[in-house]
Amino acid sequence: MTPAPRSHMLPLLPLDEALERLLAFVGTPLDSEPVRVGDADGRVLAQDVVSALQVPPQDNSAMDGYALRCAEALTPGTELPVSQRIAAGTSGTVLEPGSAARIFTGAPIPPGADAVVMQEDCTALEGGSADDSARARVRINTIPKPGQNIRRAGEDVAHGAVVLTKGVRLGPAALGLAASIGMDRLHVARRPRVALFSTGDELVMPGTVDPAHMPPGVIYNSNRFVLNALLRRMGCVVSDLGTVPDQRAATVLALQEAAHAHDVILTSGGVSVGEEDHVKPAVQTLGTLDLWHVAIKPGKPFAHGRINQAHFMGLPGNPVASLVTFLVLVRPFLLRLQGVPQVSVRPVVARANFTWAKADKRREFLRVRHNPDGGLDLFPNQGSGVLTSVAWGDGLVDNPPGRTIAPGDPVHFISFAELLA
Ligand code: AMP
Ligand code: MG
Repeated sequence: MTPAPRSHMLPLLPLDEALERLLAFVGTPLDSEPVRVGDADGRVLAQDVVSALQVPPQDNSAMDGYALRCAEALTPGTELPVSQRIAAGTSGTVLEPGSAARIFTGAPIPPGADAVVMQEDCTALEGGSADDSARARVRINTIPKPGQNIRRAGEDVAHGAVVLTKGVRLGPAALGLAASIGMDRLHVARRPRVALFSTGDELVMPGTVDPAHMPPGVIYNSNRFVLNALLRRMGCVVSDLGTVPDQRAATVLALQEAAHAHDVILTSGGVSVGEEDHVKPAVQTLGTLDLWHVAIKPGKPFAHGRINQAHFMGLPGNPVASLVTFLVLVRPFLLRLQGVPQVSVRPVVARANFTWAKADKRREFLRVRHNPDGGLDLFPNQGSGVLTSVAWGDGLVDNPPGRTIAPGDPVHFISFAELLA
């Protein structure tokens, strides 16, 4: 029998393959729950939304002006009596032949009218305001065309149309669209419940130790804040279990607590193969664990496992590695768990304004920022612990293994605006 490979000898797993494997663990998406439209921003729709009406409900005016029959205003300067006034929220009656209707934006077009002339192209006669006088007349200074300034019934949404598709992540426009067809509640995937903890004896919390009196070897726990914020942006309910010391027993205890009533357990640190890395054996005590060396930089160690019903995901400790690994693996996992079919972000082509001379055998995610000329500048220190690079940048260049970059080269850019949404 061949011995199991020791973890530091794990082969490098291409990211696409790692992601495919990880997504295969998702199984069925989370159950759905009804939520008010106003509370559904960022949530994932669990069923198609079909419109029970057409939008707009009737033909209506796109302008403040006068509704008329084009055939009755064939020359500029035609004068017509104003036979009715239709404000938004009211409806008119059949347009008397040989007359115009004073009409306001959004008001229904009176039957018989086939165009609206905007008020800037009209002159109100007798009494100045045509609004309230029975004797009011209007001079039409242009030649109207049939259909002009009329918003057609159903031009936005047809009756019976699927306006929002299951699996879509709801944003402001989607919420407005749902409201525009009268939806009060939407069925969305319930929020993933995630237990989060950091490992590391070196970690202290801001507020507990004064920066001026930091003992040697001690650092502040930053991953806790990064990951907590990322999880919330993904729609998760987070149980923040804080920092767990580098001890087997403490790690087992934390995992036991985390496995209770959570869909996902997310940790940072302790998944390398050093003697102080207790996460792997601790997960194995309670469930199953698979450690991968993903061919990405920053990043590499990533663990997936299971404790009872809970998925375990272990991220590397280095802050940028932890963040990037979250974005390329955990984020898609959490989206799929909520029922999103298309979980990867599609990069756009951008122009490098920098040199990247040292090709790596791993796929690299470089921290970059757009400059005013539209090119991408590179943050000078790409170290996996340098969180400044991410705070400074507006996205990542997804650089394939073995590729060097020269100024002017096209590169694949992924925007943080999209990744962090
Ligand atoms: P590890 O993966 O535990 O070996 O940690 C790798 C590096 O990341 C070490 O330099 C740790 O001090 C650092 N690190 C681990 N966890 C955190 C954290 N929560 N916040 C900031 N740095 C961390
Ligand atoms: Mg550690």
